[in-house]
Amino acid sequence: MGKIDKFHEIVRAGVPASELTWLRLGGPIEYYAVPRSESELVGLLQACASDGVEARALGDGASVLGSDVGAPGMAIRLSDEAFCNVEIDAPYVKAGAGVKLSRLATTTASAGLGGLECMAGIPGTVGAAVASNVTTPDAALEQYVESARVVTYAGEVVELSKDEIVFGRRSSNLSAAIVTSVTFKFESDLAEELAKRLQKIWIVRQKYHPELDKGGFARMFKDPRGQRAADLVEEIGLVGAGIGGAYVSEVDPNLVVAGPNCTSDDVKRLLALVEKQARERAQVELERELEIW
Ligand SMILES: Cc1cc2nc3c(=O)[nH]c(=O)nc-3n(C[C@H](O)[C@H](O)[C@H](O)COP(=O)(O)OP(=O)(O)OC[C@H]3O[C@@H](n4cnc5c(N)ncnc54)[C@H](O)[C@@H]3O)c2cc1C
Repeated sequence: MGKIDKFHEIVRAGVPASELTWLRLGGPIEYYAVPRSESELVGLLQACASDGVEARALGDGASVLGSDVGAPGMAIRLSDEAFCNVEIDAPYVKAGAGVKLSRLATTTASAGLGGLECMAGIPGTVGAAVASNVTTPDAALEQYVESARVVTYAGEVVELSKDEIVFGRRSSNLSAAIVTSVTFKFESDLAEELAKRLQKIWIVRQKYHPELDKGGFARMFKDPRGQRAADLVEEIGLVGAGIGGAYVSEVDPNLVVAGPNCTSDDVKRLLALVEKQARERAQVELERELEIW
């Protein structure tokens, strides 16, 4: 009997990636767990390490593409309420890793704390967003992070101060662990002004995602330096291009849409096509936003 069997109350076997990700594609993940506390997360990670089961954090699944054949290992999602609190002690805000980035943006704006309005409408959770240093033309999350609490994949709780967190362009050293909460420091501003800015940005962003009802979708690539990936895809003439059931959105050319009968393999082949054309026609090496599991 493996040590992870002790966690049968929170672990499910064979949950399809299609149920856990925005693209709604992909076969069974070997194990899927939703821990109810930090200590349970610690125990689960120690059990995985001891049983030789590879664990990885799953946020909202906005940037994960599940493979058609499924994936081995344990996907751990911090969606339990234990990881979804927002505590405000202005100008500091502590948010659980499972809090939606958009909810954090609206909550902080209503409290008269500015900075995240430009991130309204960006899909995903705080844990994933900070680990990947979510960025818009106006701001990068790293500007506001004061500290982060993580559990390593060996099951050790570590509190990292700002100086110990190394952020890169759309990356950070936090990806080597599971972020459980983040403390931010924001700027005081007028709540009404922040609400107006937030609403404006929200409306613009929603305009670019009207295909939501046609199928799952996801952002394909990180923006290359000094350029929007969407503009590049347009420049190389691939707007609307499709392979099997997957196609490049005509509304936001950095989105892949999974239409009827789409397979994960169709998406993989479409990503490879865009990468090849970007290399050949624009001499740009695109970096994937979408992680394949
Ligand atoms: C329509 C659309 C618009 C977008 N716009 C932007 C944008 O403007 N700017 C931008 O930067 N991004 C943008 N993104 C990308 C996306 O919002 C981010 O990748 C987001 O962080 C994904 O969050 P998630 O919770 O869904 O993570 P997931 O997709 O579940 O996971 C993504 C990665 O984060 C890791 N992860 C998840 N939780 C944790 C955790 N607690 N600790 C450590 N690692 C973790 C996972 O292991 C995985 O490697 C956009 C995506 C879409 C679909």
